[in-house]
Amino acid sequence: MSSVGQLISPFRVFVNFKYTKLMKKCSIEGCEKPFYANKYCRLHNQRWKRLGDPHNPGSRLYGLTVPERFWARVDRGDDDACWLYTGRINQDGYGVFWDGTKRQSGSNRLVGAHRYCFVINHGPVPDGKEVCHSCDNPPCVNPAHLYADTHAANASRAWKLGRNKPRYGEDNPKSKMTVEGVVAARALYASTDISIREVANRFGITDGAMGRILNGRHWKSVPMPEGLPRPSRRG
Ligand SMILES: [Zn+2]
Ligand SMILES: [Zn+2]
Repeated sequence: MSSVGQLISPFRVFVNFKYTKLMKKCSIEGCEKPFYANKYCRLHNQRWKRLGDPHNPGSRLYGLTVPERFWARVDRGDDDACWLYTGRINQDGYGVFWDGTKRQSGSNRLVGAHRYCFVINHGPVPDGKEVCHSCDNPPCVNPAHLYADTHAANASRAWKLGRNKPRYGEDNPKSKMTVEGVVAARALYASTDISIREVANRFGITDGAMGRILNGRHWKSVPMPEGLPRPSRRG
């Protein structure tokens, strides 16, 4: 007799377990979903496990407007202080923000956090300009520190501040060229039939040095104008 009981009991336990799993409901009032684990359905169990509260819907950013979602990620300070972006930062140190729009491919359109902040405070970025930091601090999104300027002007300013301190450039005591000189020489070469030697003579440097400026091998931080570098004659 007792041997029969021992045979049946594991089977009973199994049936009982299956029954419990299938028929029990979530213990949250009003939740009709089936039991999953720890008194809860799958959803409420996940919330309870992750956040310690089955009623917590999760993201504190849920249901916010796009600007609210942006400001929730900004460590705001005094008016003249740098306000650091606390969301995702790219490898160049700039904040990355989803402005709520989609690309044609369907993926989220990510924009620079400083750029987004400029747009919502100062309006659209003018054509041909980019959003720059007067404080030279990439993760900063204080609207008072953001202004629109051309890429060339921004590069030249960064150069003067010594951010891209190079072996070549106007900070090099041996260098005879300045950012303005490089821009002017390239513009001259791109828009006229002048030879490299003539450009070099006008700026008082060697043909070889001017050639490296005009083909972009030197002064890489200064953007090349349209039409440069010219395709090689041999090619
Ligand atoms: Zn539930
Ligand atoms: Zn700043």
